[in-house]
Amino acid sequence: MASATEHDVLIIGGGPAGLSAGIFTGRADLRTLIVNDGDPILRRNAHLENYPGFPAGVNSRLLLDMMADHAERAGCERREARIVSLESTDDGFAAETASGEVFTASAVIAATKNTVDFLEGIDGVEIIERGKSFVETDDRGRTGVPGLYAAGRLALQPYQTIIVAGHGASVGRAVIEDSDVAFYHDWIAPEGYFTGRDREIPPGCEEIGPEERKRRERESLDVMREFFAEPHPDDPIQHPSVREE
Ligand SMILES: Cc1cc2nc3c(=O)[nH]c(=O)nc-3n(C[C@H](O)[C@H](O)[C@H](O)COP(=O)(O)OP(=O)(O)OC[C@H]3O[C@@H](n4cnc5c(N)ncnc54)[C@H](O)[C@@H]3O)c2cc1C
Repeated sequence: MASATEHDVLIIGGGPAGLSAGIFTGRADLRTLIVNDGDPILRRNAHLENYPGFPAGVNSRLLLDMMADHAERAGCERREARIVSLESTDDGFAAETASGEVFTASAVIAATKNTVDFLEGIDGVEIIERGKSFVETDDRGRTGVPGLYAAGRLALQPYQTIIVAGHGASVGRAVIEDSDVAFYHDWIAPEGYFTGRDREIPPGCEEIGPEERKRRERESLDVMREFFAEPHPDDPIQHPSVREE
């Protein structure tokens, strides 16, 4: 990817779609910045009961905290700021925040649910108005403007957390595939899985032996114990039009 920009990938919006996209681009060593302003809509959920892997459900605010931590461990930088405008540049894009800071990146993933005002300065983005605003894309999130992608609910995905998270991952992979990073799959395989068949380990994949696998499993257990040690302190956010007594 062009190195004249500060970042390879700028993700605008830090809900499940944006964070999942970042987990993939960050792990592919693309310099990824996630800029989020405000609360992901999932913070309004009372108890999330249809996200695979949590048979008795999970506190949605805890899941968001875990996704944010995951994106950071994958190498993403995260910032709290509102993007107010986006412009095309010779090397990609420049995004300006409400306080006047500018972030540059070769590729941008918009994952802002129904916020599209910052896209006004970009020619060729098709905005769909259906009571709320959405962005027209192909099935991998490409908007038609080279380097600009949309993910999650903004890209008209069904309004379900697992679906927008999966779409974010798919869009993150599209960004990798469209870049010049050598890539096959993001896979961790047991030692010998490729090399035992005289195959090179494909780019993006890793082989690990039993000791390293056990070390990683222990680390994952420690991390999850810490996340699940206590109930999450935050209550769901009520709909703004509901009057609280
Ligand atoms: C009450 C309620 C309960 C729900 N319960 C469930 C459920 O049980 N199961 C289920 O599957 N789904 C549920 N959902 C739906 C689920 O929350 C959404 O599908 C999902 O969170 C959408 O994710 P997203 O990443 O596309 O958008 P979001 O999570 O909304 O992320 C968008 C982010 O972008 C930020 N942003 C917007 N504009 C800008 C800007 N200009 N600059 C920077 N940041 C910006 C927003 O503040 C937000 O943080 C529920 C939704 C609601 C409202």
